[in-house]
Amino acid sequence: MSPLTLDFLEKLPKTDLHCHLDGSLRLRSILEMAEQQKVALPAADEERLAKLIFPGAECKSLEDYLKAFDITLAVLQEEEALHRAAFELAEDAAQENVRYLEVRYAPVLHLRRGLKLTNVVEAVLSGLREAKRRYGIRYGVILCGIRTISAESSVRMAELCVAYKHKEAFQLILNNNVNCTAHAGEAYGPESIAQAIHYCGAHRIGHGVRLRENGDLLNYVNDHRIPLEVCISSNVQTRAVSDFASHPLPFYYNYGLRVTINTDNRLVTNTTVSKELLLAHQHYGFSLDDLKEVIVAGFKSAFLPYREKADVLKEINKELDQFQLPANGQTAQLPPREVVQGGVTTAGGLSPATESTPSPVMSEPRSSTPVSHG
Ligand SMILES: [Zn+2]
Repeated sequence: MSPLTLDFLEKLPKTDLHCHLDGSLRLRSILEMAEQQKVALPAADEERLAKLIFPGAECKSLEDYLKAFDITLAVLQEEEALHRAAFELAEDAAQENVRYLEVRYAPVLHLRRGLKLTNVVEAVLSGLREAKRRYGIRYGVILCGIRTISAESSVRMAELCVAYKHKEAFQLILNNNVNCTAHAGEAYGPESIAQAIHYCGAHRIGHGVRLRENGDLLNYVNDHRIPLEVCISSNVQTRAVSDFASHPLPFYYNYGLRVTINTDNRLVTNTTVSKELLLAHQHYGFSLDDLKEVIVAGFKSAFLPYREKADVLKEINKELDQFQLPANGQTAQLPPREVVQGGVTTAGGLSPATESTPSPVMSEPRSSTPVSHG
């Protein structure tokens, strides 16, 4: 048995940079929210709801996969529900020691029952703030414009972002069209990735499954250290790849691309970052050192101001050093973990970094502008 167990991986500090709010609710919460809001759902208990939401073997396409969102969006039209969904998502992430979470959603999808865009944004931020206060989890928000709705709505997203940028001090990120482009990157091929980079100024690429079809672009992405937000299970479920064996992750990683591992949708895909890391180990033979490298790539790719990111990286590198596999034992060795009250979670007795000298692992400076495209 491999010593790299789910339990071990859950203890590693990690990021989740590609995670949709409306795909990451708890089943129980959907039922409770529906009851409170008097919304009729196609199933009245967790078991039957799960069947409708988890794509499993029946999922034939991205369209099929997206059906689950009809259910989740039906209960995400009120401030209280948005607050709760955001809080619980961050809480679930903190449970598996995600230390930095970027939550993405399209505010225009939450206006069906009279909320204003600002109400939606405030509600999600207040849920995340509460989770940060309680668990110390850092977060960012990516506002998605949806290309198929209207260009106008994307412009409104841009205004919203600029307004909140000043208020929230770098906790809000604009993802103008690129979220769509990123998802299109699977269906429409590498030209959509080129568009995302060259026309939209994308700083990261969602999925990037079809990047391998264009060698020039692949090298461009590599040379510029543009991170890929890989979501293994989701790619298999949406049929972006036909099975685990044909996923390009091991090729990208071995080639030297900056890959990060993410959930996409914690509920709909029925996953966690730890489970995705375990898949990388089981299917592609990623060792603990490989996984640590991917985790560090996640922190390097965070949409955080440079100085803050340097501090976080220094802390995370020290912490990761403490996780070692025994030479021939059955279980992995874990450092003690302690949670410090007051907003900062540390492990192994580390104190939060205050020194602002960039860590040697930071390979390049990055703009601290929060207007980024994921
Ligand atoms: Zn996605």
